[in-house]
Amino acid sequence: MNTKHSISRRAALKTFGVLGATFTALHSTETHAAEGIALPTRKPTRSGDARKTISEHVFKAPLVDTHEHLIEEKQRFEGATSSRVPCDDWALLFSHYLNSDLLVAGMPQADMNRFLSPKVEPAAKWKLIAPYWPAVKNTGYAQAVRIACRELYGVDDISAATVAKLQAGYEKTRRAGFYRRILCDLARIESCQVNSLTGEAFKESDMPTLLMQDISIVGMFAGPSFKQYAPATGIDVKALSDWHNVINWWFERYAKYAVAVKSQNAYSRDIDYARVPAEKAEPVFAKVLQKEPVSADERKLLEDHLFWYAVEQATRHALPVKLHTGYYAGQNSMPLGRLQHNPSSATDLCRLSPDTQFVFMHIAYPYYEEMLAVAKQWANAHVDMCWSWIISPVAAKDYFKKHLVTVPANKVLPFGGDYIPVEPVLGHATIARRGISQALFELVDEGWLTLNDALELVDMVMHGNARRIFRLAQKTEALKTVEWAKERRL
Ligand SMILES: [Zn+2]
Repeated sequence: MNTKHSISRRAALKTFGVLGATFTALHSTETHAAEGIALPTRKPTRSGDARKTISEHVFKAPLVDTHEHLIEEKQRFEGATSSRVPCDDWALLFSHYLNSDLLVAGMPQADMNRFLSPKVEPAAKWKLIAPYWPAVKNTGYAQAVRIACRELYGVDDISAATVAKLQAGYEKTRRAGFYRRILCDLARIESCQVNSLTGEAFKESDMPTLLMQDISIVGMFAGPSFKQYAPATGIDVKALSDWHNVINWWFERYAKYAVAVKSQNAYSRDIDYARVPAEKAEPVFAKVLQKEPVSADERKLLEDHLFWYAVEQATRHALPVKLHTGYYAGQNSMPLGRLQHNPSSATDLCRLSPDTQFVFMHIAYPYYEEMLAVAKQWANAHVDMCWSWIISPVAAKDYFKKHLVTVPANKVLPFGGDYIPVEPVLGHATIARRGISQALFELVDEGWLTLNDALELVDMVMHGNARRIFRLAQKTEALKTVEWAKERRL
């Protein structure tokens, strides 16, 4: 037995203990080391060494998480208070994304409602999902949850026999400080970028340097959402110019603290925003304000005008513009034909505003080959792989691998958990690190990259790109002194 080799492997496993499962998947021999059994005496192949070296680098590197919907930690202690926290037990981990796989696998909506109800005993919930579990347990959505249950609660196999342990683990974990423990200590995430879904255009977080925030611009142009944006500004909106001032107010107040702006408007239409002058938008805006009916064409015209108004503000304040592209969350709703146009429309946006840094999210899954072409061609196009590792872990690995030998490597943002509950972020980050390691190793193994080439990329993709694109050092400095989090710092 090669003692030195064994020690280094054991040390690595200790260092990355929480991610042991991932290491296990990548190095079958480590299973035995983790269980305290001697490693085989076989000398590892050079390719095995490369795999291990790459994994170690990827698992050690701090990761910037460029997209989440995390609610504030304090909101989690308020229990089942909103649709964002439907229940306060182990089923919560299934409530964002995995519920969709269960419904698509045939689980009746009524059973899902009971499963996520705060009124049903946690112990009684397993039998509601049991019939569908074998069908969904291997999807990315489920794997993220399973890794979280294993690493946080010590539950390897979710079943009737382990539900009590699952619930006990949930309660023990969900305590003050659990966001930092899960995100920083276990997932080794340096900072997150949150697109708050709780109503505010910009969330004044209690953990401003960890839960960094996007300004949500979707309601500035879709609707527009007068109730969401106008009251805080004190502006009485009577004309389009007033609404422009409402938009200005949000940027003047928060652009310094925000990392980017975000829109998920692609859930209702394509991202084909045309440049429309204010004169053309004004009469439509007046109709909308008076709650008069407007045609689809008129609505598009107003949205297009206001989209660019908000994007110009973002650009003036050096904020990148994050746009949802591709796959839809939920089930039984997605019109794939509409999504298919996203990459082509993305190139139009890049052409129409060369000074704007666009971040196209979710690799426009399933049209990710097209997104490689977009990012390769346009200097102002960046691709964020947020959510993609759990939509399709193998496709995400494929995208990442292709990106590195097709598109400049400084244009990929490799991870965003995209979760409301914090627990599965750990699972998602683990899957992403595993996929990134695997893609790099395959490129080396297939002769496209040297081991050195691969290792040189690790810091750039894991955190370097995000730090640069979103100017995170500068934002962190600004966020360290914000008034709204003062109490927390005392
Ligand atoms: Zn999202």
